[in-house]
Amino acid sequence: MQYNKLKFSVLSIISFAFCIGGYAQNNSYWQQEVDYVMDVDIDVKNYQYTGTQKLVYTNNSNDELTRVYYHLFFNAFQPGSEMDMRLQNIADPDGRMVTEDKKSRIATLTENEIGYLHVQSLTQDGVKVSFNEEETILVVELAKPIPPGGKTTFDMTFNGQIPVQIRRAGRNNKDGVALSMSQWYPKLAEYDFEGWHADPYIAREFHGVWGDFDVKLTLDKTYTVGGTGYLQNPQEIGHGYETPGSKIKKQKGKTLTWHFKAPKVHDFMWAADPEYVHDTVQMNDGPTLHFLYKDDEKFQKTWKAVQPLTEKAMNFFSKNIGKYPYDQYSVIQGGDGGMEYAMATLITGGDKPGSVIGTMIHELAHSWFQHVLATNESKYEWMDEGFTTFISSLCSNEIREQNKDNPFESSYKGYYYLIKTGKEQPQTTHSDRYNENMPYSIAAYSKGSIFLSQLGYIIGQDKLMKSIQKYFEDFKFKHPIPNDIKRSAEKVSGIELDWYLTDWTQTTNTIDYAISDVLADGAKTKVNMSRIGQMPMPIDVLVVYKDGSQETFYAPLRMMRGEKTNPYPQFERTVLPDWPWANPSYSFEINKPQTDIKAIVIDPSQLMADINAENNVWQSE
Ligand SMILES: [Zn+2]
Repeated sequence: MQYNKLKFSVLSIISFAFCIGGYAQNNSYWQQEVDYVMDVDIDVKNYQYTGTQKLVYTNNSNDELTRVYYHLFFNAFQPGSEMDMRLQNIADPDGRMVTEDKKSRIATLTENEIGYLHVQSLTQDGVKVSFNEEETILVVELAKPIPPGGKTTFDMTFNGQIPVQIRRAGRNNKDGVALSMSQWYPKLAEYDFEGWHADPYIAREFHGVWGDFDVKLTLDKTYTVGGTGYLQNPQEIGHGYETPGSKIKKQKGKTLTWHFKAPKVHDFMWAADPEYVHDTVQMNDGPTLHFLYKDDEKFQKTWKAVQPLTEKAMNFFSKNIGKYPYDQYSVIQGGDGGMEYAMATLITGGDKPGSVIGTMIHELAHSWFQHVLATNESKYEWMDEGFTTFISSLCSNEIREQNKDNPFESSYKGYYYLIKTGKEQPQTTHSDRYNENMPYSIAAYSKGSIFLSQLGYIIGQDKLMKSIQKYFEDFKFKHPIPNDIKRSAEKVSGIELDWYLTDWTQTTNTIDYAISDVLADGAKTKVNMSRIGQMPMPIDVLVVYKDGSQETFYAPLRMMRGEKTNPYPQFERTVLPDWPWANPSYSFEINKPQTDIKAIVIDPSQLMADINAENNVWQSE
């Protein structure tokens, strides 16, 4: 007995050690899987639809699940909903969602105009389960628990009503697109290493389960449909999907049943309109691009102009991040501005080509930073909006030939503005729970973009792009978290970056370094610098001499435990001793008399987000 007991405890120590080893090597990653088969009938006259859904759910976690949750997003578009309450109580409501006198548009919706999504019946492996609708979340108590590694099949019937277009999805948007169908089906909530993410639909954003979708949509035959997924029956459908020049054998009757399949995605969007023009462009060594837009003269020019640029942007992102992994991408007129979806985007507008092109570039970039690298947008909004802003700024600069010295300038301006308002909240804030929309937007888009551009300042631009590519390779079709981009950058650069991730994304610490004194010392010059802000940074210093020559000095931050390569190879660089963060002051010597010096500048690239640029420069009188 005792012997056995001893043996058991040794075994459990061994297995415990294995377990720890597994975590240390990050082999413990798992994610859930869903396979949806849906069959949906849409009545385009009363904007209502009914559907069946078969969902095979694989529990890859180590936990037994006794409950699951579904999102029922359309229930947000009802007076009194959480989305409505938020709209009525936030100081700076989204302009699209309110009337001219800033009143909630949701509050004004009538029975025929609201959105809803209700589940009529639900079984688990053929056995009825009990479920309860809590507005935008369906809580399901399982008939039998799903064990770790187990699979279960849910069969559901549901019905919905497409709301008047208020936000993202809806009927008859401002460009007159009939159906913008995002967040439209009962969608299983994600369960990951943090547990369930059954977030109510209040404002933003999304986190979905990876899987395969098989979707049949039956609607009026005059409507053209675009969206996520490859059309399986193009020769029965036509509408520009058929093989060019081939004969179509259309289904009989007043409706058409469109059959789509989308492998390896975490969402499924579609849009439809009876007046869509449908253009396609087959890229060389790239996907087929689809463009669907209203057949209206005022949209023509813009929607033709966007096509070659979509091709260029696709090539830019594939080259700089990693190859676009699907065979199709669709740019579709719809929605309420621009929103990214799997294999597609919905964009509004037409009178200004520039704005539609800018939006297309941004939304297409999300194909990487959200639809392949699927971060939880509610919690890490800066990783999808910010990284998208970063890469689309670079892309715009190149393909639209903007030739800006600092393509990220507007992100820095936004961030400095936010600091001045005193309204900054840390990026760890849940995206629904910022005090106002403004600090959310700037934290997500601008400060998130600066996370990368400033990382380039810390580790070097070449290492930055390699880090992004490694991040893509290591985490595609997964749910990366903030630590993952940090680890990719650490592995590529050999520089320790935990201090950077911590201060920039989990605090509101700011950066302010200064040249405090420049003192003549015979044939030499002494430069005193100070760290005024709490956030640490390595420091590049450029010295410009009166004879026009220049040289640079580099003070690495001690806790980086490494150095970047010279970002200005055209100038001689002196690598100074490390600057230990806790020391608020730092001095170094220049081997030339002060009278020779014209100017001394901290970070001439301005990629370091120093909130007070004035004290970064010393100039001779
Ligand atoms: Zn975005």
